[in-house]
Formats: sequence, C-alpha cells, structure tokens
Amino acid sequence: MATLRFKALQDLMNKKVPDINFNEKRVPDIYGELVFNDEAMKKYLQSSVYKQVRKAIDSGELIGRDLADGVAAGMKAWAIDHGAVHYTHWFQPLTDGTAEKHDGFINYGPDGKIIEEFAGKHLAQQEPDASSFPNGGIRQTFEARGYTAWDVTSPAFIVGTTLCIPTIFISFTGDALDYKTPLLKALHAIDEAAVDVCQYFDKNVTKVYSNLGWEQEYFLVDRGLFLARPDLVLTGRTLMGHASAKNQQLDDHYFGSIPERVACYMRDLEIECHRLGIPAKTRHNEVAPGQFELAPIYEEVNIANDHNQLLMDVMKRLARKHGFEVLLHEKPFAGVNGSGKHNNWSLCTNTGVNLFAPGKNPKGNMVFLTFLTNVLVAVYKGQDILRAQVLNAGNSHRLGANEAPPAIMSVFLGTQVSAMLNSIVEKVSDNKMTPEEKTALKLGIGRLPEILIDNTDRNRTSPFAFTGDRFEFRAVGASANCAGAMTAVSAIVAHQLREFKKDVDSLIDKGVKKDEAIFQILRRLIVESAPIHFDGNGYSEEWKEEAARRGLTNITDVPESIDTMLSDHSKEVFVGGGILTERELEARHEVEMEKFVKKVQIEARVMGDLVINHIVPTAITYQNILIQNVKGMRDIMGEEADSLTENERDLIRKMSEHIKIIRNTVQQMIDARKRANKLPDVRQTSYAYSNDVRPLLNVVRYHVDKLELMVDNEMWPLPKYREMLFMFD
Ligand code: ADP
Ligand code: MG
Repeated sequence: MATLRFKALQDLMNKKVPDINFNEKRVPDIYGELVFNDEAMKKYLQSSVYKQVRKAIDSGELIGRDLADGVAAGMKAWAIDHGAVHYTHWFQPLTDGTAEKHDGFINYGPDGKIIEEFAGKHLAQQEPDASSFPNGGIRQTFEARGYTAWDVTSPAFIVGTTLCIPTIFISFTGDALDYKTPLLKALHAIDEAAVDVCQYFDKNVTKVYSNLGWEQEYFLVDRGLFLARPDLVLTGRTLMGHASAKNQQLDDHYFGSIPERVACYMRDLEIECHRLGIPAKTRHNEVAPGQFELAPIYEEVNIANDHNQLLMDVMKRLARKHGFEVLLHEKPFAGVNGSGKHNNWSLCTNTGVNLFAPGKNPKGNMVFLTFLTNVLVAVYKGQDILRAQVLNAGNSHRLGANEAPPAIMSVFLGTQVSAMLNSIVEKVSDNKMTPEEKTALKLGIGRLPEILIDNTDRNRTSPFAFTGDRFEFRAVGASANCAGAMTAVSAIVAHQLREFKKDVDSLIDKGVKKDEAIFQILRRLIVESAPIHFDGNGYSEEWKEEAARRGLTNITDVPESIDTMLSDHSKEVFVGGGILTERELEARHEVEMEKFVKKVQIEARVMGDLVINHIVPTAITYQNILIQNVKGMRDIMGEEADSLTENERDLIRKMSEHIKIIRNTVQQMIDARKRANKLPDVRQTSYAYSNDVRPLLNVVRYHVDKLELMVDNEMWPLPKYREMLFMFD
C-alpha cells in the first residue's frame, strides 16, 4: 500500500549526486546568447531597420507593419541559427504562469515546396484562440477573440527550440486580459508623474525609470516523493502531514552550506539564466529546511518581471532534470516558513539619480525627501490596494503568520530617516519661514549621510521597508506575477505624485516661493501619513492593537480584501490614472474571486479524495490489526489479557473517533461546497468558500495528522514531512 512512498525513499537512497557543471565558458561569453538583444539585432538587422526599432524600443511605441517585416526577417535568421524551429507569442494571462501556443516556421512556398516562414504579421500580432483564459466576463463567446501584440521593450528569446516573443494580451474590444498591459500603463504613468515633480528640481530630467530586483524563494523536494503526494501534485501544498520532530527550530539551514545535489541544480539554473539574459547573482539556503532563494541584479521593472516569469518556468523544467520538483506555493508545508518574493523597487532618472537615495547636497536631499514622503502617503492611502494585489488563497497562509509581513501594511524607515522627517515637522510651520529657518532646514536635510544602505536597520517584519536606496515590498507571494504588485505600487505612487504637484502648484500660484511651497506640503503630508510609519516589530500582538488604534486596516480574509479593489480610492487610482478601465477593474475583481473559489474548491476535493481513499482505509487496516491482536490476546489469556491490551483498545477507540470526525467533516465540506456553488454570483460563492468550506480543511487535517502518529509507519501511504524536508541531510 505504501509502495509509492517506499519506492521513492528507496530511489532517494540510491540517487547519486551529479557532477557540478563546470561550464568551460565564462559568464560574459554565454550571457544573453539566447536573447535577441542589441548585439544580435545589430548583427541580424539591416542598419536602417535596426535604427528604427531601437527608437521604438526606447520610446516604447508600437511598430508598423513595414518595420515588423524587416525585424521579423532578421529575427528569423537569428532564431534558426540558434536552433529554433517554432515561434510563439509568450504572454501573461490572469492565471499563474505564462501561456504560449507554438507554431512552426514550416509553410508551403509559392512553388509548393516546404519553406521556413516568419513575417512581420507573425511577429507583430497574433490571434490565439484564448477563450478559456480567465477574463472576468469581458469576453463574450461571440467575441471570444483575444489578441497578442509584441511588446517591443522586452526582447525575444529562445527556449528549447522555440522563439518566444513577449506580448501583451487584449480582447477584441481592446480590454486588457493580462498582467503586462496594465503594468506598462502604470510604468508610463509613474514616469510622467515623477518627471513632472523632478522638474521642480532639475529641468534636465525627462524620463524616470522604475527598477525591480525580486528575490525568489522556493522549496525543492525529491520528485519521487512529490509524485507520491497527490496533494502536492494537484494543489502545490501539503494538505496534511504531521510536523517533523525537528524542523527549523535550530536555525541550522538558513545561510548554511548548500547541499551538494542542490548546488548542482543551482549551477545549471544559473547557467540557463545567464544564457537567457537573466542576471542571476545571489543564491542561498532560506529559513525552512529544503528552502532556497535566488536573486538577480535588479533591472527595469517590465524586463525584470518577464525575467521572473521566465525564471519560474526554467526552474521547474531544470528541477525535473535533477530529480527535483520545485515548489513555488506560498505555504507548501505547515509549521515551517513559507515562500515569498520580496520586490525591491526604486526610481531612477535619465540623469542617473536614484530618487530614493539621499543626495550629495541639500538639493539632492530635497528630491529624496519629496519622493520618500510621497511614497509614504501613497502606501498610507493605498494600503488596501496593495494588499488586494498580494493576498490570495496561497499567500493567505503566510501573511500574518509570524514569518512573513502581517496583513497590516506599514512602512519601515529606520532611525535616521525618521529623525529627518521629525525635523521637518518641527521646523516648518504654516507661517512663513524665516530665511534662517530655511537655511537651517536645508542644511539639516543636507547632513543626511550619503549612503544609508548600511545604516538602515534590517527590519524583516515590515511589509514595505525602506532599505537605504530602495523600498522592499515584502508581502508578495512566491508564486505571484510581480506585475500585480508593481502595477499597484506604481499606480498609487503616480497618483500621489500628481496630487502633490497639484498642491504645490496651487501654493505657487498664490505667490508662495517654490521651495517653501514644497516644504509646507511635505510637512502636511508627513503629519498626515504618520500612522503608516512603523519601525517596530510587525509580528507582535501589540502592533496589531496599535495599528487598530492608528486606524490602519487589517484584512486577512481573501474575498474581503479582493472587494477593496472596487473602493472609491482604487477606482480613482486605477481608472482615474488611466491604468485600467472600470470594466477591466471589475473584471479583475471577478477573476480574483473566481481564482479563490477554484483553488479552495480543488483543495477541498483533493482533501476529500485523499482521506477517503488513502487515509481512512489505511487507518482501518491498521485498526484491524490491533483488533486481531486484542482478540488473540484474549483467546490465549482470557480476561487477564484485558489489562494488558488497555492501550490497544484505547487506540482502537481513538482511531474510530478520528475516522468518524473525518468522514463527517468531509461530508460537511461537500455539503458546504454544494451550497456555495448554488449562490447567484461568484462574489457570494467566494465568501461562502472562505467562511464555510476553508475552515473545514483544517479540521480534517487535524484529525488526519493525529492518525499519522498512530498508524504503523510501514503502512502510511504519504511521504512524511521529515522525509520531504530532510532528504538532503
Ligand atoms: P537582501 O539583503 O534584501 O536579501 P539581496 O541581495 O538578496 O538583498 O537582494 C536584493 C535585491 O535588491 C537584488 O535583486 C538587488 O539587485 C536589488 N536591488 C539593489 N539595489 C536596488 C535598487 N536601487 N533598486 C531596485 N532593486 C535593487
Ligand atoms: Mg533577501
């Protein structure tokens, strides 16, 4: 019965650690060799085409058909030289992961012979039959067409034998059906809004770039053990499993030496990343046993996000080659840390100034102060908007679980920056500042150390931490498409920067000098946004109480959080900011509700199947052995046996109780699902799943985990926590 589990364990014992890949080539020699990058374009495109396409890339404009034909010709030649025989539009629908539909270059030529064809029309736009992607009611069946259109700002690349072209995905009516479209709009919005504000300080600023450095956490489990766990295979997490006697309490895994088998995998992964132009840099063990992290050097947000999407794919593929399965679920194992994906985010001007880094002089620090303060306000007003992008079925197991940021949003600033903000509040008054006051203030700000990075305390409990020259949004889940979080961050900050400019301009119109107007508005904003600033321990109970006193929201229920997407402020930010239309926003709200329902529904079904078909039968088999034992003892010893079999009889009774509760709860879960499914709309269904179905999963789990401790180890069908988490030891 437990054959799969033992077969996998047996295989594991016999597995040999592969040799590490000593790639003879050096990193610069392989870097980007699978990417149609600037170098490849120069080589494969006619110089006039190259110039035009370069211009389109820099301006982010769409390109016309003529140009597309020229680019396609060069891209085809390059791709074929690198072994490609297919091409695909690679896009990011509102599911987990990316989508692709491959077409061969193969076609009939004019004379009926087979040729390799790839023209501008294949590159620029496609019409995949994509009617089954989530669309939140936007696409009716009569207009089920979806279009993908090339995102020229993200270079094409080759995976295996397929040329992949990064695209946006929109409906026949032009509504966004993906993560990329609103991201590009939000990046454009923050560029514009930030440039306008920068112009107060430096007229040379004409472009503001957004940067993202993500840190991808993940678990590795042996593939054999993984396949013996239907819950892992079907839901990405273990729905049951008693905690291992040892887990992470000794802190001996974090930053420990990387197990040999994993190091081999990581090396192959890095090489593949580098060939694909993903600048993988950092790798280490994470807190939980079997948990690791990979981080690249940061890049422009859109590219960084495409790279993260691509990375998750590459990770899964290579893991299988190494006999592993990669788990990107936010909480694959109860009782040990889950996985997140910190988003390190910053803004940088065309003049090379990082807007979140203290400047070299008082003027530079005014810029820093201005952007920092506006981020504070944006997060304060947009707490719910941010949360709605990161809180989902998977991540809800993690947020607020004393290992990840709480569901309460707050910003960590560190002592020096906090002191600087305080000095503004103290020194600037609503009255006109004296020239002396102004000088003192400017000097005070000017005294901020140039490099704060090493000085900011490492507060790991803050969901949105200032880390010296960037912000780190830590509440993002490991499996997420960063575009959701980055769209939200960019949208709320763009919105706030526009408000800021309006306020400053109106004071200037009233005759207030520019510097003073900026100071006065900043002062007001610092005071106004004070509740979101918190440098203390975000995991503590006191913070929950304190946050409530401050009026911060603390939403842990997934549907409730999704509902905030439709708040007035959310509409103002997304619709008002030109990032999503009202219809698109409503569609996304519906898609999220639907995703939540489906995920919980699948978990509940898998749980039901597993306990009824795996766990309960195993428990009964073992119970029968006990019963035989008790009976046999009585046959041999008569009544004398009763005192000796007391424990066995107790165990038999307890097992029956657990089995009974499990069966009843599974039935309750089925009934609750039936009721929920009958509700008139997905929003109500979603709440019903959250309130009535989900809690029952925990009840079943509790009793299954108790049985795991009672049943003979030899009979237990599912790989145990200790086996999955400590297979490297
Ligand atoms: P941590 O100490 O937070 O674990 P890591 O070195 O693991 O730091 O990762 C930090 C991430 O932040 C990297 O991807 C790094 O490139 C990125 N990063 C560094 N500076 C910036 C910046 N100015 N803007 C955006 N990301 C940055
Ligand atoms: Mg880190």
